[in-house]
Amino acid sequence: MKKKLIIVFLTAIVMTACIKKEKSDNPFLNDSYNTPFEVPPFELIKASHYMPAYLKAIEEDNNDVRAIINNTDDPTFENTIKVLEYSGALLTKVSRVFGSLNSANTNDTLQQLNKELSPILSKHRDDISLNDTLFRKVKSVYDNRYKFSLTDEEKKVLEDTYKSFVRSGAGLSAEDKNKLRKINEELSLLSVQFGQNLLAETNDFKLVIDNKEDLSGLPEGAIAQAAQTAKSLKMDGKWVFTIQYPIMEPFLKYSDKRELRQKLFTAYFMKGDNDNDRDTKTIIARIVNLRVERSKLLGYKSYADFVLERNMAKTPEKVKEFLAEVWAAATPVAEAEAAAQQDLINREGGKFKLEPWDWWYYSDKIKKEKYNLDDEITRPYFKIENVMEGMFYVAKQLYGLEFTKRTDIPKYHPDVNTFEVKRNGQHIGILMIDNYPRQSKRNGAWCGAFRGQSRDIKGKMITPVVTMVTNSTPPTSDKPSLLTSGEAETLFHEFGHALHQLLSNTTYPGVSGTSVPRDFVELPSQIMEHWVLEPEVLKIYAKHYQTGEVIPADIVVKLDKASKFNTGFVTVEYLAASLLDMEYHSLTEPVELDIRKFEKTAMDKYGLIPEIKPRYRSTYFNHIWASGYAAGYYAYMWSEILDADAFQAFKETGNIFNKEVAARFEKEILSKGGTRDPLEMYKAFRGKEPGIDALLINRGLK
Ligand SMILES: [Zn+2]
Repeated sequence: MKKKLIIVFLTAIVMTACIKKEKSDNPFLNDSYNTPFEVPPFELIKASHYMPAYLKAIEEDNNDVRAIINNTDDPTFENTIKVLEYSGALLTKVSRVFGSLNSANTNDTLQQLNKELSPILSKHRDDISLNDTLFRKVKSVYDNRYKFSLTDEEKKVLEDTYKSFVRSGAGLSAEDKNKLRKINEELSLLSVQFGQNLLAETNDFKLVIDNKEDLSGLPEGAIAQAAQTAKSLKMDGKWVFTIQYPIMEPFLKYSDKRELRQKLFTAYFMKGDNDNDRDTKTIIARIVNLRVERSKLLGYKSYADFVLERNMAKTPEKVKEFLAEVWAAATPVAEAEAAAQQDLINREGGKFKLEPWDWWYYSDKIKKEKYNLDDEITRPYFKIENVMEGMFYVAKQLYGLEFTKRTDIPKYHPDVNTFEVKRNGQHIGILMIDNYPRQSKRNGAWCGAFRGQSRDIKGKMITPVVTMVTNSTPPTSDKPSLLTSGEAETLFHEFGHALHQLLSNTTYPGVSGTSVPRDFVELPSQIMEHWVLEPEVLKIYAKHYQTGEVIPADIVVKLDKASKFNTGFVTVEYLAASLLDMEYHSLTEPVELDIRKFEKTAMDKYGLIPEIKPRYRSTYFNHIWASGYAAGYYAYMWSEILDADAFQAFKETGNIFNKEVAARFEKEILSKGGTRDPLEMYKAFRGKEPGIDALLINRGLK
């Protein structure tokens, strides 16, 4: 029924398109946005524009593919792969806007639309990747690749295209293709549903405090923030705390009220596991099993085997071996941290066992004891605007980039800050930064692009429009946004992804910017984290928000010493989530899944200590159910082998701003996108393969 409707709809659009060829009031359907730098004209885009734009885009994409199929010449790179690479431009244009806004500024209409679009897009992707004639042409070019004279980039584009067809099921029988289509359609709907349930669960919980005594221990900023939230909910005079991370974390660190910490943290780690209509357990179980079926259909043992084939790690065994090595180093450290906290509890006369909701509180107390340092001492030096100045400074030193704030460029929310990026006076791209939590934004931090870098079919440079989104401590009525050092690190991290997009210098759109394997993509982002607390960088940006005083040298020393504090915990909670991800995706047969039990068994198997919860429990593990990190959450730490080693390349020269090393990093890695094998790129930069030592030393585990 639904399918028929779409066809009718499509025909109607084709007809209108034939009748009038004047400027449309749908911004997506005009040749140009007519805005500075062709940034999407957000204020003109209405929710009602998306569906017609998508349908038109699908039609155009189909026309492009039909042209390839109907071409009677022998298939070549030019008439097949290149045409395919440049097809679907409108679809990319619409999807980038819709996808970004649905993550960072969603509403009921967009969520409903996402549900409607999901099966349509799944079908469209399959229509192309499962098209026999098209695949035969692609295969013919691939089989004859040695006969064409291709650039290295074109060879990589050809290989990626061919493999992507095979991995999408192009070689399957008609019957299996049908099975695959059904699985894909259901999977895409399930991940949409997962994301929506999770956002609703996160927004639903509120810890309301109406008794001043219950605020004991909390810093002024957190209290002011909670009062402001209460006010916005028409609960004047009370204080409301949510389970958004930057709100929850200070509460867990400072609240003297153990039962309230327990209440808040329990609400956090029970997200999606409350047996209500937003529960995600059934969704997850279904996703896992469909992924197993899909992998088997495509000839792989497990979903992890399927995913890892195209990553640097190559096999699940390699990943598990790597995780096990770090796990073995980190677990004793975490156990010692737990023992120290229990010791403190006992010394204070607390007659209870350390629980997960106590960890932040007691580890912070120990940190204070040991280093006389905590977030509230450093926050005043990490005003968000200053931290951004700091990251811009680093980019200027390394790559000669200049960032100028622009207020004449459309934005999708008042919180967005827009910068034009230039080098030697030449325009490089646009960077939007959107920093504070809100109900319309999902948790976490990420970086995307409203337009990626590439060259058009005539070779003209297309500059990127990049967007960076975080959930950082928001300003209050009397204070600016003052970050923890961890939040400052997150900003530098996402900025690293942004640089990867901004400094991309490829020809084809499919291999530009961050189009690299998951376990390589965090190298450009994580390497930036190394600069954030370097004394040379701190003295540039870490200035007191009221007095302008540069962060005192003794605090800098303490920050450095404390940087390896609590790393047992940080490493173990991360590894636990990575192992959980690998356990789900190593299944080789569909099984009856009891999510709670599966998670417990998996964690017991590795011996996760009860005082630590995985960084993400199954029911809110957005990365692996809805964000493309399935069998890939390990990637952050894998990339860390690279970034720890790569930063050494700067350190070894005695100059963290060494321009030659930076130029090499840009030339061999940042500018290359996915045009080359990652290990080859890395070796071209560093002259050798990286070892695991720099990572362990970096985390204080060796
Ligand atoms: Zn990242």
